[in-house]
Amino acid sequence: MSERELLGRTAEIAATFLETLDERPVWPPASVEELRAALGGELQEAPREPLEVVEALAAASEPGVVAIPSGRYFGFVIGGALPAALAADWLTSAWDQNAGLVVGGPAAAVAEEIAGEWLLDLLGLPASTSFAFVTGCQMAHVTCLAAARHAVLERAGWDVEGFGLANAPQVRVGVGGKRHVTIDRALRLLGLGNRCVATAEVDSQGCTSASAVAAALEGHDGPAIVCAQVGEVNTGAVDPVGEIARVVKDAGAWLHVDGAFGLWAAASPELHGLVRGVELADSWATDAHKWLNVPYDCGLAFVSDPRAHRAAMAMTAEYLVAEEGAARDQMDWTPEFSRRARGVAVYAALRSLGRSGVADLVERCCRHARRFAEELAALPGCEILNEVVLNQVLLRFGDDEATGAVLAAVQGSGEAWMSGTAWDGRAAIRISVSNWRTSDEDVTRTVAAFERALTAI
Ligand SMILES: *Cc1c(COP(=O)(O)O)cnc(C)c1O
Repeated sequence: MSERELLGRTAEIAATFLETLDERPVWPPASVEELRAALGGELQEAPREPLEVVEALAAASEPGVVAIPSGRYFGFVIGGALPAALAADWLTSAWDQNAGLVVGGPAAAVAEEIAGEWLLDLLGLPASTSFAFVTGCQMAHVTCLAAARHAVLERAGWDVEGFGLANAPQVRVGVGGKRHVTIDRALRLLGLGNRCVATAEVDSQGCTSASAVAAALEGHDGPAIVCAQVGEVNTGAVDPVGEIARVVKDAGAWLHVDGAFGLWAAASPELHGLVRGVELADSWATDAHKWLNVPYDCGLAFVSDPRAHRAAMAMTAEYLVAEEGAARDQMDWTPEFSRRARGVAVYAALRSLGRSGVADLVERCCRHARRFAEELAALPGCEILNEVVLNQVLLRFGDDEATGAVLAAVQGSGEAWMSGTAWDGRAAIRISVSNWRTSDEDVTRTVAAFERALTAI
């Protein structure tokens, strides 16, 4: 069996999976016990043929693979994988570059450099902004907040990379009441701890305001960081970043934006106004594996002050700037050392979509979300809980019990899958439209699944 045959056969298995998405249940049938039985057993003594391994792995796994690439998967905020991005991701594995260093793969370094510049342009961020391709928005927060920590402590006369945080001036971090938990974990990993946060009040959609941020910073004249959010995970709501930026600048603080999916609104002429002022922040974290639809795992960190970014991450002679015209050693900008050339899939995604394709992807998902809100609102007992400003729809059917029953029936039908959540202490259903593959027909089929669920219960 040649490598060519092995990879060809593997591509066929993958293509068959993707081609049968329309027929397979979105939630897979196998239980965890069945999967353990199918995949488990002792590790045998002797080697096995690669093709045999891959075929057995596929056969045992498929009954437990969620049809996330399906146009009717609306769980969490996950997104699909664009064909060009998926194919480029395979090549990335075949090439197996170590994209931490230019000498580990110059083509990967340059592809990431170019993709990073395209992203700044698409998202409307300042051209001098530095960037890093990391594993996800979680590590993008860590990267950006490490730069923030460096900058605010440097202004206070403290060298955090040299001395750590023991005896450092206390840093306060203003966050909204509906921030994503990955902000808290980033603060923990950076040694700032979770007690450094001052929580700003939020409105009914989960947005904070400039005045609430000002209140959270009040009475603290030491180093401060503020984390705003563009795209709340339930409602998709967007903080008024431009107004918050003014308060933050006045306080001499650093403004970080969690735009895991919502920042992509900036790439759409139709939706850009929603994130007006976002470019005034000091750092931005987002994902390519969500709304840009590249395969997992790919997050993006952007920092307006490259010096702070590099000072926080680089392990080589601290502030040494690379020689003019040289490619970047990515490890100077990321928390990883050896790393996958994950930016290659981003490059392919952007090349295949072009500017209009990115805008269309974002706008199309939002249009489907609005249609969901309209058509589901017409069903008996349905209440839409959010203003559908982006790609998220939050709804419930009467009380918690009814909401849970409808959700379970839709999930169990195999027609579509979306996650449950709690909003204002009550059960809710959350639909996130973030996949290029979702079509009008998928929305129709999903609304019909809700209708059938209501009839059945
Ligand atoms: C998904 C999400 C994150 C975390 O992103 P990962 O890529 O899963 O690390 C952070 N913030 C928001 C608003 C999100 O939706």
